[in-house]
Order: sequence, then C-alpha cells, then structure tokens
Amino acid sequence: KDFVKLENVKKRYQMGEVEIMAADGIDFSIKKGEFAVVVGPSGAGKTTVLNILGGMDTATEGKVLVDGADIAGYSQKKLTGYRRDDIGFVFQFYNLIPNLTALENVELALQICKDPMDAREVLEEVGLGDRLYNFPAQLSGGEQQRVSIARALAKNPKLLLCDEPTGALDYNTGKSILKLLQDTCRKKGMTVILITHNSAIAPMADRVIKIKNGKVSKIVENEHPVPVE
Ligand code: ADP
Ligand code: ADP
Repeated sequence: KDFVKLENVKKRYQMGEVEIMAADGIDFSIKKGEFAVVVGPSGAGKTTVLNILGGMDTATEGKVLVDGADIAGYSQKKLTGYRRDDIGFVFQFYNLIPNLTALENVELALQICKDPMDAREVLEEVGLGDRLYNFPAQLSGGEQQRVSIARALAKNPKLLLCDEPTGALDYNTGKSILKLLQDTCRKKGMTVILITHNSAIAPMADRVIKIKNGKVSKIVENEHPVPVE
C-alpha cells in the first residue's frame, strides 16, 4: 500500500522571460512506516518536492497523494490544517524559539494541533528527560535537533518531513540524529521523508529517491538498510 504517491508532479517558476521547471514530472511512492531519503545535488528540486509534500507550496501540475487524499487539490484553508495536524517538520537549523525552554518549545507547538501527545513524555523518548528546562542556547546542536524532533513527533503527525536534519551537525552527532529518526520509523511506524545532498545517508534508508534536474533519476529499495549505530 502506498502512503505517499507523487504522480507526474511539475512545478514551474516564471522568472520574467525564463521558465524554470523545478520539478519536471516527478513520480515516486513511499509505503507507510518507511524511512525514505530524497537525495540529489543542489538545485535538483529537493526543496521544491518537500515544500509540495508539506503543503507550503502547490504543484503546477500532477497528483500528490498522502494517506489517500490528493493534497494538490486542497484549498489554502485545507492546506493550513494539513500542515498543522498532519505533518511534522524538522529543519537543518532547528527553528527553536530561544526564549522558551525545551519543554515550552514542544508545548507551544501542541497548543494548535488536533491530537497532541504529552510533551514531557516525547522529550523523554528522544533522550532529553533531563533537559526539559534548558533553553536552546544551553543545549548542544544535537540536543537542539532532538527538541525539534520531539516538537514534530508530539503532534502525532502522519508524516515526518526532514530538511537536511544533520546538515549543521558534526559527524557523530549527525549519526545519533539519524539513529533517532530510523528508530522512530521502526518503533512508532512513523513514515519519514528526509531530503539531503549527502549521499552517505542513502544506505540507511528503506527507499532512496535520487533526483536531478527536477526529475527522478533512480529509485533504490534497500532490502537491508544499514542500521545506524
Ligand atoms: P534543491 O533543494 O535540490 O537544492 P530547489 O528545489 O531549491 O533544489 O530548486 C530547484 C530549482 O528551482 C533551482 O533551479 C532553483 O533555482 C529553482 N527555484 C526554487 N525555488 C524557486 C523560486 N521561488 N523561484 C524561482 N526559481 C526557484
Ligand atoms: P557537543 O559536545 O554536543 O557539542 P556541548 O559541548 O555544546 O555539546 O555541550 C555538552 C553538554 O553541556 C550538553 O549536554 C549541553 O546540554 C551542556 N551545556 C552546554 N552549554 C550549556 C549551558 N550554557 N548551560 C547548561 N548546559 C550546557
């Protein structure tokens, strides 16, 4: 069963006379509970795909099916609800609010969502039970990224979208974040889509979608994804 399915997705940007096809007929599908990585060089169209999947941008053409619904046909109002209730976002630079503690950062995100979990419990699950009352500046980069993952997971989203989540971290800290994301798939059955330019992450994924010049160049299903240690 496909949980996410893009069919002939196109995104056209008009820059004066010049037309840019940021997505030029993208097709792929992802099963529920998979850890999928979308990989490709800078300018390939990864952010465009992520923004469309996250309801931050709309496709010029094509179908974007998420859990049976075609979000490409959603109104702006429906997309707002979709972003709020259905999608967890994790960014490269964490996007935490500096004057709120770890716990308050997670609680704030839960105030507007439909089906919130317990903020404290989720922070414990990501290994931050002893960091609840620390401010972002008192936390290491890896810990800040754990807070941001907790904030995303506490919404109990259908889909976790991660944009270069290890891009600002050193090698070992990055590995620990990848392990947390891989474990989140395995233990919670969460569907995770991660975009990166770093092809070293690909062997850890269940499915690798390579994109180049707005097109899918290759899809690899890893029968035995490398467990992150
Ligand atoms: P990636 O995330 O893989 O680096 P992007 O999706 O950001 O790639 O960009 C794909 C292409 O679309 C690039 O050529 C980029 O310059 C172009 N592009 C992205 N966003 C816009 C925009 N808002 N307006 C015009 N061109 C854009
Ligand atoms: P890393 O080795 O991951 O780069 P740091 O050296 O920044 O981490 O921090 C090591 C530990 O010290 C982390 O657990 C972090 O939470 C804690 N820490 C760092 N700065 C502060 C601070 N200003 N106040 C309280 N704890 C801090």
